[in-house]
Amino acid sequence: MDLGIKGKRALVCASSKGLGRGCAEALAEAGCTVVMNARGAEALEATAAEIRAKYGVEVIAVAADITSEEGRRKVLDAAGQIDILVTNAGGPPPGMWSDWTRDDFIKALDGNMLTPIALMQASLPGMMERGWGRVVNITSQAVKAPLGVLGLSNSARTGLTGFVAGTARQVAGSGVTINNLLPGTHDTDRAVSLDTGAAKAQGVSMDEARKARQASIPAGRYGTAAEFGAACAFLCSQHAGFIVGQNLLLDGGAVNTTM
Ligand code: NAP
Repeated sequence: MDLGIKGKRALVCASSKGLGRGCAEALAEAGCTVVMNARGAEALEATAAEIRAKYGVEVIAVAADITSEEGRRKVLDAAGQIDILVTNAGGPPPGMWSDWTRDDFIKALDGNMLTPIALMQASLPGMMERGWGRVVNITSQAVKAPLGVLGLSNSARTGLTGFVAGTARQVAGSGVTINNLLPGTHDTDRAVSLDTGAAKAQGVSMDEARKARQASIPAGRYGTAAEFGAACAFLCSQHAGFIVGQNLLLDGGAVNTTM
């Protein structure tokens, strides 16, 4: 399917690996110019070079911490006038509800709520003025089905979801859509780190921990970054202009709800 976004300029945050990379690749495949970001310059440059070579599009790599004001400024300055924004950052660490301090919450809110909000505040006016834009925020299935150990993530991402619910309806009339993609378990470094934590906590091997998690997913497997990226590219496509303020679960059926 032609997504109709060839030549659009996309900023994909936190994209040297994992789900962000999946989104950057799918948008490059659709013919977009892609501005990529991560903190580690080496992995970022390597991924950018691979995508450039594979899809023949312009790829700009900006090494910066997207959760800091200075990092965001650097990324936004390099990105310039963007048509598509995909927000993403690393997730907060797991832990115990009774241990989290105010500082832990502030860090989580900064990374997974206030950072995407700041990026939207910077990008939406230009998109609205030009009458076309797409924003996709990578959040988590935890927004619909909280995991106790990820309370910092549950809190920050639910806050972002509330902001998007109201804002998406305010900008839709200008041709700009905002939606959230909610990953369930995907085969990325983040999944490996959560499996490692589960294996340690339960006193089982990594393989056993992984098999147990896979068994809890109706699809019987983890998702891939490529399928996640394809869903993101569709939400950014010309065909998705009537999809507004939605929270789309990509979880292999793990969250057991009717709607
Ligand atoms: P990942 O494989 O660990 O990749 C994270 C990417 O983000 C890397 O490119 C990393 O590069 C970059 N990054 C992290 N912090 C950054 C920062 N402050 N500034 C700029 N770049 C940053 O993670 P993932 O699995 O793709 O997860 C992406 C998001 O989805 C996370 O928020 C995660 O919590 C959430 N999520 C993932 C899953 C899953 O199963 N994978 C499920 C639910 C939610 P550098 O380290 O070099 O910066």
